[in-house]
Amino acid sequence: MTSAMKHLADMIGYARTRKTHGIHDRATVEDLRVRSDGWGLPPGLDVRWLGVAGFALTYQGTTILIDPYVSRSTLGQSLKRKPALPDSDLVNTWLPRADAVLVGHTHFDHAVDTPAIARRDGATVYGGTAARHLLGLHGIDHQGVVVEPHKTYAVGPFEFAFTPSQHSKLLLGKKVPNGGEITCEHLSGLHANAYNCGDVWGIRITVQTNAAPFTLFHQGSADLIEDQIKDTDIDVFLCGVAGRQFTDDYTRRILRALTPHKIVITHHDDFFVPLGQPQGFAFGVDVDRFPYEVADVDRDIEVVTLPEPTPVG
Ligand SMILES: [Zn+2]
Repeated sequence: MTSAMKHLADMIGYARTRKTHGIHDRATVEDLRVRSDGWGLPPGLDVRWLGVAGFALTYQGTTILIDPYVSRSTLGQSLKRKPALPDSDLVNTWLPRADAVLVGHTHFDHAVDTPAIARRDGATVYGGTAARHLLGLHGIDHQGVVVEPHKTYAVGPFEFAFTPSQHSKLLLGKKVPNGGEITCEHLSGLHANAYNCGDVWGIRITVQTNAAPFTLFHQGSADLIEDQIKDTDIDVFLCGVAGRQFTDDYTRRILRALTPHKIVITHHDDFFVPLGQPQGFAFGVDVDRFPYEVADVDRDIEVVTLPEPTPVG
């Protein structure tokens, strides 16, 4: 069977068993869930999941956000090509004040809210050229830093560096959906599919704690460029699992490259569902199988899920 046929067969299989997977996926997510303060982080470091690939990291009064996305476009709004723009009420409800926002790529489910947070908090945004173009559409491109690969940036006790990566290829494993730079020139045309992905990055974040440095690595899309990964012995790997079935041997390859001690499953939820409503799962994500894929590489790596997002304050 060609790999395209295999992908097609996989998708049909996923569609047929979606309902069953949903039940197993939900049980797995519940089984693996830790308390927000009970999973081995250094004292004083807070790591919260914001839904999809979004995280808030806080230490010693400094907060950085990664790929925050709370102004959800529903599937219907996406299909009607309605503009996908930040909703300041939702941003204020779900997102803490931030000192910096790190953007792994600019698909809508990673980037919609970044300009609103930058404007609200005066936060600096670190990402590729598409992220800065997006800020420019909101009139605040001066708050964007176009990162250099592997260069270390610092905000308070956090140091971070961007690792060139690539996006998982959907459409039978052949094509990155909405690839290339954002070309839209006006907010009125910025519907979900106008958020092209731009540069794609893995992001290493090191927290300079009072004890040893603590290292996290965020991978928002399930593909990689092995040669570019310089960071090993990662304490916590924030691992996007959606679309991994379209990347050859993804789980094994990324774990061999990063050699993490602990994995947080992320990007498993249905990003079309508004926060505060019962959450579903990304199409075909098969969370249930992921811990077995990890154990197949290294049984000592712990796999967890974090608590559901909650309103700030
Ligand atoms: Zn994406």
